[in-house]
Amino acid sequence: MFDNLSDRLEATFKKLAGQATINEVNIGIAMRDIKRALLGADVNYKVTKKFVEDVRQKALGEEVVKSVSPAQMIVKIVNDELTELMGGENKPLNLNATKLPAVIMVAGLQGSGKTTFCAKLAKRLKKNGKNPLLVAADVYRPAAIEQLRTLGGQVEVPVFSIEEQDALKAALGGIDEARQKANDVVIVDTAGRLQVDEAMMAEAETLKQRLSPDEILFVVDAMIGQEAVNTANVFNERLDFDGVVLTKLDGDARGGAALSIKQVVDKPIKFMSVGEKVDDLDVFYPDRMAQRILG
Ligand code: GDP
Repeated sequence: MFDNLSDRLEATFKKLAGQATINEVNIGIAMRDIKRALLGADVNYKVTKKFVEDVRQKALGEEVVKSVSPAQMIVKIVNDELTELMGGENKPLNLNATKLPAVIMVAGLQGSGKTTFCAKLAKRLKKNGKNPLLVAADVYRPAAIEQLRTLGGQVEVPVFSIEEQDALKAALGGIDEARQKANDVVIVDTAGRLQVDEAMMAEAETLKQRLSPDEILFVVDAMIGQEAVNTANVFNERLDFDGVVLTKLDGDARGGAALSIKQVVDKPIKFMSVGEKVDDLDVFYPDRMAQRILG
C-alpha cells in the first residue's frame, strides 16, 4: 500500500531539492504534483483540495530557516499535514464503563473483516489483562457464528451465541453471561450485508439504543477505495460511531480510504488490520502512517 504515492511524493521533493528558495512558482508546481499523487492514490477530491491548499499556505507563510532546505521544509509540512489529516494522535478505546462489562459493538458490511477483527481485538484485550467475551449477534448466518467460534477458540476467548435469529436477544444474553462469568469486556459482532440496507441499519440502531455501547467501531475494507468513505458516511449518519477500523491494508489498496476517512466522517481511525491471522492487528498511529508514506 502507498508505494505509488510514496514514489510520487519522493519525485516531487527531489524536484524541489535543488531550489534555493521557496516561491510561488516552485510551490505551485510542487502542489500540482502532490494533488495528482493524492488523487492517484484514490484520496477523496475535496480532501485533496483542502490538503494541498493548507500545505501551500503553510509553505508560503513560513520562513525558511538557514539550516533546512526548501525541500526539507516542504517534507516536514507535508508530514505534519498528513498526520493531521489522519487524526493527529491515536484515540484509544473507551473502556471506562461505569458499569461492567464494557460493551464494544462492531459494525460494518459483510466481508469487511468484522468477525476476524472481533477475534483479533479480543486477543489484544486479553493480552492487556482484560477478560473479554465474544458475542455472536450476526444471528442470520450460521457460518458467521461458526467462524466466530473457531476464531474464539484460536484466541482462547469464550464465545456466546444463541440458536434463535434474534440479534438483540443474543447481545443482551451475552451481556448477562458476561456479568455472571465476570467478563469485563463484551465484543458484539453484529450482522452485515453485502451492501448497506435498511434492515441492517435498523437492527444496528436498535442494538445501539438497547446496549448503550461504550464504543461502536465501524469496520471497513480499505480495498474498496472511495466506496469505503461512502459506506462510512452512511453508517456514521445512522450510528454516530466512535471509531474506524481499516482492514486489508496488507493488500494493494491505493490507500485513499486511510487518508480520506477521518476528514470526511470526522471520526478517528483506531485500528488497522494487516492480514488474516489473529495477530495481524495494529493500533493506528497517524504520525507513523505519515512517516511510512513519506518513506
Ligand atoms: P465479515 O463478513 O465482515 O465478518 O468478514 P470476515 O471477518 O469473515 O472477513 C472476510 C475475509 O477477509 C476473510 O477471508 C478474512 O480472512 C479476510 N480478512 C479479514 N481481515 C483481513 C486483513 O486485514 N487482510 C486480509 N488480507 N484479509 C483479511
